[in-house]
Parts: sequence; C-alpha cells; structure tokens
Amino acid sequence: MRLSATLDGKGLSAFDAESDPGAAPIPESMPNAVDFLTRMQTLIENLAKLQALELERSRLSQEMRALPAEVAGAERELAGAERQSAEASGALNREEQVRTRLEREIEGHRQKAARFRAQNDTVKTPEQAVAIEHEIAFATREMERLEDEELASLERTEEQEGALKRARTLVEDLAAALEKTRARTGERQKQHAEQLAALNAERERVRLEIEPEWLARFDRLAAARGTGIARAENQQCTGCRMGLRPQIWNQLREGQLLSCDSCSRLLYWDPAIPSAPKQPQPEMIPGAGRAIRKPGQAGG
Ligand SMILES: [Zn+2]
Repeated sequence: MRLSATLDGKGLSAFDAESDPGAAPIPESMPNAVDFLTRMQTLIENLAKLQALELERSRLSQEMRALPAEVAGAERELAGAERQSAEASGALNREEQVRTRLEREIEGHRQKAARFRAQNDTVKTPEQAVAIEHEIAFATREMERLEDEELASLERTEEQEGALKRARTLVEDLAAALEKTRARTGERQKQHAEQLAALNAERERVRLEIEPEWLARFDRLAAARGTGIARAENQQCTGCRMGLRPQIWNQLREGQLLSCDSCSRLLYWDPAIPSAPKQPQPEMIPGAGRAIRKPGQAGG
C-alpha cells in the first residue's frame, strides 16, 4: 500500500479518526500493516523534525532581528552621556563668562571708589564730603556683593568640573561598551546567518521527503496556528491542551497520525517520551485559529 494512495478520493480520511470509527488496531495478519506503520512513523518523524526546524528558524530570525536594537540601545546610551558631557562643558563656559563679567564690574566699582577718594581731597563743603563718602560706601558694598557672587560661581564651577569629569568617564565607558556590543552582535549575526543557512538546507531536504499533500496540510496549520503538528501526551494534545477521546489516544499509541478534534493540528504519540505530568504549554499563537478545517473535513 502506497501512502499516497490513501490521500486519493477521500483525501486524508484514512488517517482521520472521524472517518474511521472502528479504530481497530491494524491486524498483524494484514501484509501491509507493518509497512503502513513504518511509513507512518517516517512521516511523523519528518513532520516533527520539520516543525523543530521551523521553530528553530523563527527563534534565530527573531534573535537576529533583535540584534540591531541592542546596538541602537548602546548608541542611545552613549549619545545620552555625550549630551550630558556637552551640557556640563557648556555650563562651565557660561560660569567663566559670568566671572569675567563680575571681574569687569568689580573693577569698575574699584575705579569709581578710587576716583571718589581722589575727589575727597578737594571737597569744598560738608555736603560734598557726605555725598562722596556715600558713593565710596556704595561702591565698596557693590564690590563685596560681586565678590561673593564670584565665590559662589567658583563653587559652582568646582561642581561642574566634577560633573564634566564623570560625564567624560561615562562617555569613554559607553563608547567602549558600544564597540564591544557592535563586535558581539556582528559575530552573532554571522553565526546566526550560518545556522539559518544550515537550517534552511536541512528544511528543504526534510520537505522533499514529505508527501506534498501532508506538507500542504502542515503548512496550512502552521500558518494558522504557529505549529502544524503536536505531540499527544497523557491523553492530551500538547498543542491546545484539550483532552483526547480514548479511541484517538489508542490509535495514536498504535503509531497513527491523526488530527486534534479541537485545534486540528496533526497529532502523534512518541513512545520515547515518558508520560509524566508537565507544565501546560500555551498555544504558539493565541487566538490565531482561523481557517482551520474540522477534523472530519481534513485533507483534500
Ligand atoms: Zn489540539
């Protein structure tokens, strides 16, 4: 019995529990039964392998897409530190300009006070003497006030120099980190591309070994559900966690490839994996259940 023969006419219904209510184990006496199950086993292995390859491909692709974001993140951090450094540097320059202005003003008041003191020698009236004393006192007070301002400015400069030093150190560190990130992501990009090329070659090879009808069905399910085939475990579909009817469970354990009543994924049983309770596995793409055929209509 050729496997593809079962795909004729009623589509894939030969493997479908809905259209095979007897679900009787294939009798040992049937000459092609062993051959049939061997072919089925090969098909299951190839489909499971194809799915593992697809999942690995999408994991690698996702990682590759995330790599430029890592570099961009490091670039943003560096740009932020460079901005801080430029701001600290700008603040220092402004503070120096403030002190230049203060020095000029202080010098102005000093000269004014000196001029008034010189005039003091030539005063004619007591009113003039009082007025000159007043001007000298004012200029002295202004000088003191401006000198206090200058001192405050020097204190700010000290703080700003500290901030500038820290910002420059940060810029250096982040620039070095960016270089490392660039080198690392570049290397990973290269490795991923090589792995992906190998996966693609292996995928093409496995696809060629799967009958086109099964491949089309797998692709359709994978596009809609994220995965096309699911392992049955503890009488559950691991794709959607729905319980399986005992009849289907039995057929699966005989080595048949069926489809889940609930999510339509192809279902198989792997005797190599022990039946132990496991963490629930969510659907690959939640809510992506569109255009899924009912198990009874599967195939074609
Ligand atoms: Zn399911």
